[in-house]
Amino acid sequence: MTAAPQGKKYLGAVDLGGSKILSVIAEGDGRRVGEDRRTTSAREGPEVVLERIGVSLETALANAGLQQGDLTAVGICSPGPCDIDAGVICSAPNLPGWRDVPICRYLEERLGAPALLENDANAAAVGEHVYGAGRGCRHLIYITVSTGIGGGLIIDGRLYRGATGLAGELGHMTIDPQGPVCGCGNHGCLEALASGTAIAARGQELVAQGGSSLLAELAQKQGRLTAETVAQAAGQGDIACQEIIRRAGYYLGIGFASYVNIFNPQLIMIGGGVAKAGDLLLAPARAEMEARAMPEALRAVQVKLAELGDYGGVMGMVALLRDGATA
Ligand SMILES: [Zn+2]
Repeated sequence: MTAAPQGKKYLGAVDLGGSKILSVIAEGDGRRVGEDRRTTSAREGPEVVLERIGVSLETALANAGLQQGDLTAVGICSPGPCDIDAGVICSAPNLPGWRDVPICRYLEERLGAPALLENDANAAAVGEHVYGAGRGCRHLIYITVSTGIGGGLIIDGRLYRGATGLAGELGHMTIDPQGPVCGCGNHGCLEALASGTAIAARGQELVAQGGSSLLAELAQKQGRLTAETVAQAAGQGDIACQEIIRRAGYYLGIGFASYVNIFNPQLIMIGGGVAKAGDLLLAPARAEMEARAMPEALRAVQVKLAELGDYGGVMGMVALLRDGATA
């Protein structure tokens, strides 16, 4: 093992997800020098997963030829509500048993470096702002469309957290008051209409009605029917599946129009697995946004795909640590 060159500062960042843990070691300019990926196996509970996070960071350090003393700070982002100031993950729908887990204290004790916590969508917004599709923009909105819909707001060059860190829940804007019930308990949220879960549900209805033999065949072959399956059938020319994706894009565009009118952003960036559907989703989203938003605000805004993929969250933590966001 080699010691870190004199004066170099290394930052550790972890993205804790329901299915995977991604750890990176980076320099302040964003250059990644070490990495580790492993499955979360969240069912084993918080204690086992905490240990796994520690091992993952230590493995990423070792992969970079570094050791614990070389880390100046560590950041972790996680799904669900967090108490940023206390460094506590309050709860996480995809992490069973996680209730008020003092993650920062654990990392500080284990790694001997100050630790910082942030919500994963907020972190990805910062990552895209500093290192990705949002470079050079001061006013931008990041929206991630996957199983659910999350988001983060960069206003005047800074992450906007709101009064209690919950700002940017872009998926829970009401689009249709009579719409399907959402995971949050409200009716007709954007998430209930345009998320991967919503697209998969429409696909299942379609198959049940005998509306797409191609989708039924793909679902049977894969053993499951997800938004990706619907997108795949759409890509192979299935008209009914194309209509499902287009419909999700239409609802996204209704949301975008409100974001444009409220925040007057330069950029709306879309990340998450569903964004891989590309123009089939983005074209109707843009069209609906243009039909509804105020023309003066529309002139300023671009809609683009995010660039960092699943590195968005960790790179956001690197940027926040670089800027000295730890206490
Ligand atoms: Zn909701």
